[in-house]
Amino acid sequence: MQALTNRAKQVERAQMSFIEQLYLWNILKGMFITFGHMFKKQPTIRYPEQKREFSPVFRGLQVLNRDEEGRENCTACGLCAVACPAEAITMEAAERLPGEEKLYKEEKYAAKYEINMLRCIFCGLCEEACPKDAIYLSETFTPADYARKNFIYKKNDLLIPNPVTDPKGFADARGSKVIRTSK
Ligand code: SF4
Ligand code: SF4
Repeated sequence: MQALTNRAKQVERAQMSFIEQLYLWNILKGMFITFGHMFKKQPTIRYPEQKREFSPVFRGLQVLNRDEEGRENCTACGLCAVACPAEAITMEAAERLPGEEKLYKEEKYAAKYEINMLRCIFCGLCEEACPKDAIYLSETFTPADYARKNFIYKKNDLLIPNPVTDPKGFADARGSKVIRTSK
């Protein structure tokens, strides 16, 4: 056959010895490596039965915070959305009506608040930007899902349980993060 270039190189195939043809040595070598790993510390854990300790700087799923009376902290100022480099946050502001003082801490609140978790890079800039301590990144992983639309987290998905009616849920959601509830 005519060669297109002169870069082709003839490679000599070395003849295998009888021992090499049995592959015994390679099998033993492989088993030795496997056996050696049985006595090493496992790098993996049996999640979810076992869980790793979180680093103090771990940043997980966002939580919308409440104050100690259970009122929503968020005033829908939009600073978190402006700070977000992934443009993952959207919201709609509304004015607090007379009689809603126990629901919302300030005169304005977020009637709608959404985070697109497919965009979020868990940088924590929304938490840094918030002047009302209304959003922080918790120690919870964002759950996996099959449908893209389920990664648009609505306000009700993000809101921390009410510390007055559900103190345990509030403490669990908060984890070991220190939250300043009054500002
Ligand atoms: S953690 Fe970062 S990317 Fe995610 S919503 Fe907050 S600012 Fe945006
Ligand atoms: S979470 Fe904080 S920064 Fe974002 S809109 Fe609410 S108060 Fe403003």
